Amino acid sequence: MSDSFFHTDNRPFIIAGPCSVESREQLTQITASLQATQQVDMIRCGVWKPRTRPGGFEGLGEPALEWIAALRAQYPGLRFCCEVARPEHVELCLRHGIDAVWIGARTSGNPFSVGELAQALRGCDIGVLVKNPIAADINLWQGAIERIMQTDVAHVAAIHRGFYLYHDGCPYRNKPLWEVAIELQRRLPGLPIFCDPSHMGGHRRYLQELMATASDLGCNGYMIEVHPHPETALTDGDQQVDVAGLVALLASLEAHKHADTVEMQLNTLRQQIDAIDERLIQAMGERMTISRKIARLKMTDHMEAYQPQRWNELLRQRLTTAQSIGLDPHFVRKLYEAIHEESIRTQEEVMGNAGVH
Ligand code: PEP
Ligand code: MN
Repeated sequence: MSDSFFHTDNRPFIIAGPCSVESREQLTQITASLQATQQVDMIRCGVWKPRTRPGGFEGLGEPALEWIAALRAQYPGLRFCCEVARPEHVELCLRHGIDAVWIGARTSGNPFSVGELAQALRGCDIGVLVKNPIAADINLWQGAIERIMQTDVAHVAAIHRGFYLYHDGCPYRNKPLWEVAIELQRRLPGLPIFCDPSHMGGHRRYLQELMATASDLGCNGYMIEVHPHPETALTDGDQQVDVAGLVALLASLEAHKHADTVEMQLNTLRQQIDAIDERLIQAMGERMTISRKIARLKMTDHMEAYQPQRWNELLRQRLTTAQSIGLDPHFVRKLYEAIHEESIRTQEEVMGNAGVH
């Protein structure tokens, strides 16, 4: 990596801290405990919270920046970062000497907002971390990073926090889609990419496995939400860990890197297989629900469940797609014969039941 600001020798860069600053006591307490671990490079703490829906805790704003400034003076080795969404946020962060800012997933997908933030950050000697946008549009993520880079901000990094997909069957809050981060790495070589397993997983139970996968893929660091008492957190309580939890996660990450990696890699790959199978089963369920609707429509037109022309055309299309991605056509044919047979059985069941009543 070319930039030393977000770089550490021989270990990942660690950003840790609460989702939101909730009080001076909470911030002081978490900063002291994180500093004591000697494993944290930067404290994260949100002071303006972008809430998906109205009514929740929206952050404490400028007073929290004053507390951060006081803690910075108290712990010279520690750096602090906050989320910014508007130029006024940037100005306030600069005024209070904040070391780095991040652009959140709800903002990085908006080129106007990113453009305004870039202007406010022009030439600043601070760090800027750009989270991936909510949607898995790599160009939008890359574009946001480029807009920041164009203004000669001193230090830039990306944060991969996963992508929201509606009911995709994935157990995580945001789907990792690791391939997007890998592609970003390819397009912007030298750019540090950090993983935010907290917003990716949405629950602390997933942090360990997500960090292990990110590590296998060569990620440069992590942004992890840590709260003195996660169960009382005003935002994102399920996904925050306490300081002991963070220390355990970092130890397990270290063990993962040195472990006999065959078993670890198998686990990672099996997790990916499990997630894909989950989606396959969900998709089959949705497909059969549609088949039942089709059966009802066919009945109103006195059609048979089995429509050879449609089946031949469907199979032809699926085999073409399969071939284009190198899937064995014999396998795909067998798979579709089984799916189609079940679809016809389901439709005939609907038609038979309707006939009986
Ligand atoms: C956050 O980091 O607290 C946050 C709001 O994250 P994201 O933009 O990834 O949702
Ligand atoms: Mn959060």
